[in-house]
Amino acid sequence: MSDDFFSDLGKSISRVTQKAVGRTGELFETTKINAQISGEQREIEKLYAKIGAIVYRKILNGTMEVDDDIASIVDDIRAHAGQLASRRKALAGVKRMRVCPACGELIATDVAFCPKCGTPVVVDPPAVPEKTEDGEDDDWTETEE
Ligand SMILES: [Zn+2]
Repeated sequence: MSDDFFSDLGKSISRVTQKAVGRTGELFETTKINAQISGEQREIEKLYAKIGAIVYRKILNGTMEVDDDIASIVDDIRAHAGQLASRRKALAGVKRMRVCPACGELIATDVAFCPKCGTPVVVDPPAVPEKTEDGEDDDWTETEE
């Protein structure tokens, strides 16, 4: 084999390596920029949702008037909120818990405050033996007689 052959082979390998390095760099840049694009899209979605929540609250408070197209979306949100509340109630029933009236979080039956939002909740009385109509324990009344 001639020196030219090895020289050409070397140049060819070098070109392949450069292309591979170039592709890796391109892939890295593409992945990085795609992640940045997704991040910006998520931020915009969050801000849209924030605007939506503010507008929704204002509409419910009666401090904002809206067109029919927005009013119909508000009705949809109300309908879904109603479904959400009943699903949470159903879940609370299955898990023997209850639903915070303020935030909708599932909470244990023996806590005085919602652990998520801090709203005071009525504590269920602890399970005690059945009492007679006058409020005395059955056993107690019988031994006194
Ligand atoms: Zn709560």
